[in-house]
Amino acid sequence: MRPRLRCVNCGAEYDPSPKLFTCPKCGHLLEVVFTPDELPPFTEFRRRSRMMGIWRFKELLPLKTERPVTMGEGSTPLIRLEKLEKIIGVRRLYVKFEGANPTGSFKDRGMSLAITLAREVGSKAVVAASTGNTAASAAAYAARAGLKTFLLLPRGKVALGKLAQSIMHGAIIVEIEGNFDLALDTAKELAKRDEFYPLNSFNPWRLEGQKTLGFELFEDIGVPDHIFVPVGNAGNISAIWKGFKELKRWGYSDSLPKMNGIQAEGASPIASAFKAGLRAPLFTDSPETVATAIRIGKPVNWLKAWKAVTESGGTFESVTDSEILRAQRLLAREEGIAAEPAGAASVAGLIKLASQGYFNGDETVVAVVTGHGLKDPDSARFHPTMRLRAISMDDAIEKVMEVLEGRSVEEKAVG
Ligand SMILES: *Cc1c(COP(=O)(O)O)cnc(C)c1O
Ligand SMILES: [Zn+2]
Repeated sequence: MRPRLRCVNCGAEYDPSPKLFTCPKCGHLLEVVFTPDELPPFTEFRRRSRMMGIWRFKELLPLKTERPVTMGEGSTPLIRLEKLEKIIGVRRLYVKFEGANPTGSFKDRGMSLAITLAREVGSKAVVAASTGNTAASAAAYAARAGLKTFLLLPRGKVALGKLAQSIMHGAIIVEIEGNFDLALDTAKELAKRDEFYPLNSFNPWRLEGQKTLGFELFEDIGVPDHIFVPVGNAGNISAIWKGFKELKRWGYSDSLPKMNGIQAEGASPIASAFKAGLRAPLFTDSPETVATAIRIGKPVNWLKAWKAVTESGGTFESVTDSEILRAQRLLAREEGIAAEPAGAASVAGLIKLASQGYFNGDETVVAVVTGHGLKDPDSARFHPTMRLRAISMDDAIEKVMEVLEGRSVEEKAVG
């Protein structure tokens, strides 16, 4: 078992130590590599209680513990989109709804493992820079573990629901004048001090928790042809890819999915470079998008994500804010799924690629909806709605019947 850390760039391997996150030789990020002692039949994982969370897959995780910090994260619904798959023209289209996690985003998968580790290495406090969901998740899991939480948040750029969660769980909030990338630099500096354990996705242990999303897809539908993932700091797409590669390496599966990373046009350092045929991202200092969870100009995990997409034969694409909001509305109004804007970016990306003839019609496609619509209630203001105003019960009933029977003069959508 004894996990090792391997550099994604030069391949050098190291014995793990709690604060080793970058390769001393070349400065690139590390990933966890290990061989499980035991490989239970895959059906065994399904039999285990959902309340074990990601620890249902404990033999396939690099951390042995008797006392994981868990809230039953993962085991999220895989929802078939029967209307949309006909419009788009693929055989099967699913959403993996990560909004159903305990704090409403996929971050919980990684946080369960990272916070468990923070406690095992004896940290007093944890620190994370965040566009909001890492903050909410860190605050909740650290509260369970009894660790002090410091959150570095770009001022005025964190969605209301996420901020409310961070406050509710008692985290200490440091507002940074500047964007996420500056907050992350600050988190990295603090993490050098002994007292702090960092929870951002440059921490490869967190990504080990997130790879379980791939295990669950395999459990539910085998290996899909395509997976679409919104990309911000680029950790999640890398983690899901790692999960599928390990399933193959460990003899559970014999194929791999194509990984497709979707960025917002105003924050697309990876997608724009990929489409221009370059070999490295075009970092930007001023990312801007309605999808605040992926409002990132310098994705730390870019090389891991780049490898995931190129090795798998997928692609990177960018989508405009209005394409994101359109996908958000489609998911909500046609399929009943509330996604925050970043969460809908995966669906916006696959709609865009479908219109360019990306699919042959025979594929099974999964879009990861990374966060719940309640995270960002403000984003509802971009959608048309019908409001009727009434001054009495009779008036209300009359107005309702007018709309139902299609004879209302007020029946117009307002934004
Ligand atoms: C964190 C987050 C992302 C981006 O994930 P990365 O691993 O940083 O690429 C996308 N959507 C939501 C809702 C998130 O919270
Ligand atoms: Zn290296």
